[in-house]
Amino acid sequence: MMRILILGAPGAGKGTQSKLISEILSIPHISTGDILRNEISSGTPLGNKVKSYVESGQLVPDEIIVEVLLSEMSKDKYKNGYILDGFPRNMNQLKVMEEKGIHVDKVIFIDTSEEEIIKRITGRRSCPNCGSVYNLYYNPPKQQNKCDKCGTELVQRKDDTEEVVRKRLETFKNETLPIVDYYTSKKILYRVNGNKNFDDIKNEIFSLLGV
Ligand code: AMP
Repeated sequence: MMRILILGAPGAGKGTQSKLISEILSIPHISTGDILRNEISSGTPLGNKVKSYVESGQLVPDEIIVEVLLSEMSKDKYKNGYILDGFPRNMNQLKVMEEKGIHVDKVIFIDTSEEEIIKRITGRRSCPNCGSVYNLYYNPPKQQNKCDKCGTELVQRKDDTEEVVRKRLETFKNETLPIVDYYTSKKILYRVNGNKNFDDIKNEIFSLLGV
């Protein structure tokens, strides 16, 4: 039984790393951000309620997100462990989680500098036609702003602008960093250098988990 929590600023690669750990260890991954994005794209009442928060980079109110989490976690598939990604985001959510008996054994904090995050997120471009993803700094298209595969003009996601990213980073520092301190004091937090490349981060996490 392994109950893991992944913490990190937006753009630290929590989602991608969580998915890999989930596959390798056969533990279900639960991402509150993914759940909300699905609800939004399906146009459900919950999706409509949270849309403006998610798109402007603000946290969804605690009452809403706590209910989303608890209803997801009540499923049988989480009985033998999970990788929690995106929850808790503040001390109140952490408190509610513990009161409801949801606990974690290991916390992995992907620690990435602000400068690196801004570069990764604001450099991201995608092709509206075939879905290919590029980064102007790390993986630029061969022709300026055109998709290598199909030649379509690349676009930037609404929440990938510098303004929204800065807001999400500010929220992370004010609301979520206290959670890092909390688990540090409980001695179950492992800090991983998030400024390295993706594979190095992955390897460091896997060795921490004994994989
Ligand atoms: P993420 O994919 O985890 O970065 O989440 C994307 C967005 O979903 C966030 O910017 C918030 O608007 C919302 N969100 C996800 N998880 C939470 C949470 N635990 N509390 C509040 N808002 C959340």
